[in-house]
Amino acid sequence: MSETDIRGTVAVVTGGSRGIGHAIAAAFADAGIVVAIVGRNGEAAERAAAELPGAGHAGYACDVADPAQVDATVKAVEASAGPIGILVNNAGITRDNILLRMKDEEFDEVIAANLKGAFNFTRAVTRGMMKRRDGVILNITSVVGLMGNAGQANYAASKAGLVGLTKSVAKELAGRGVRCNAIAPGFIETDMTAALDEGQVESLRESIPLGALGRPEDVAAAALFLVGPGARYITGQVLAVDGGMVM
Ligand code: NAP
Repeated sequence: MSETDIRGTVAVVTGGSRGIGHAIAAAFADAGIVVAIVGRNGEAAERAAAELPGAGHAGYACDVADPAQVDATVKAVEASAGPIGILVNNAGITRDNILLRMKDEEFDEVIAANLKGAFNFTRAVTRGMMKRRDGVILNITSVVGLMGNAGQANYAASKAGLVGLTKSVAKELAGRGVRCNAIAPGFIETDMTAALDEGQVESLRESIPLGALGRPEDVAAAALFLVGPGARYITGQVLAVDGGMVM
């Protein structure tokens, strides 16, 4: 990646087949970045990649929670598109429940996908980035990781964990030319929030100073900035894109 231009850089966007990840993939493709979309559903990832503007994009079936699948996917992306210069750890799930009813599997699945998945991909791309002294990692956390949320102990813990991961990776790799930041979206209109009923959405709106839920494109615009040359002096930061919920 050049100091002034990210065109032609190869980016992996986990969970890029829909929602926030897909908006990030589309913003990257518009900027001339070559995007590898990763999701458990390989066909959905391939379809999403085929819709992006420009050439060279591809979809990969991979469960981010499985280190062997992640290592194989990184090898496959690099063999077909070239060295990975940008990693966006966006894949995430919820398994909400009140604490007393939360099952072990509900806790473990969320930590495995949201936190261990980001660790798996970060470790897999880091060796190459360090060798080239060039790379950017962006983790998609959540305001819930900063504030907590009743009924989401597992999800909030995974997202708070991502903040610690971001800062540790930023400190460890800064001297090797690799930056690592996070975005903490507030409530964004995607499949993940589609399950909320009108009453819940209304009370959410009241808690958002800018008075509305966000759109995936709002997060994508911040992501494009943070991976680009304009952010060359920014690392270890968590940028809230949340209509002012956390300030
Ligand atoms: P979404 O619409 O549910 O999409 C989730 C994406 O992640 C899908 O592409 C899904 O593809 C992929 N994915 C899930 N588990 C995976 C796994 N184990 N391995 C590989 N891919 C996996 O979610 P979203 O709302 O866009 O959220 C994206 C990220 O933003 C998540 O990390 C979420 O926690 C965070 N976030 C969302 C909001 C919000 O309000 N929507 C707010 C704050 C933070 P497959 O199903 O094919 O695997």
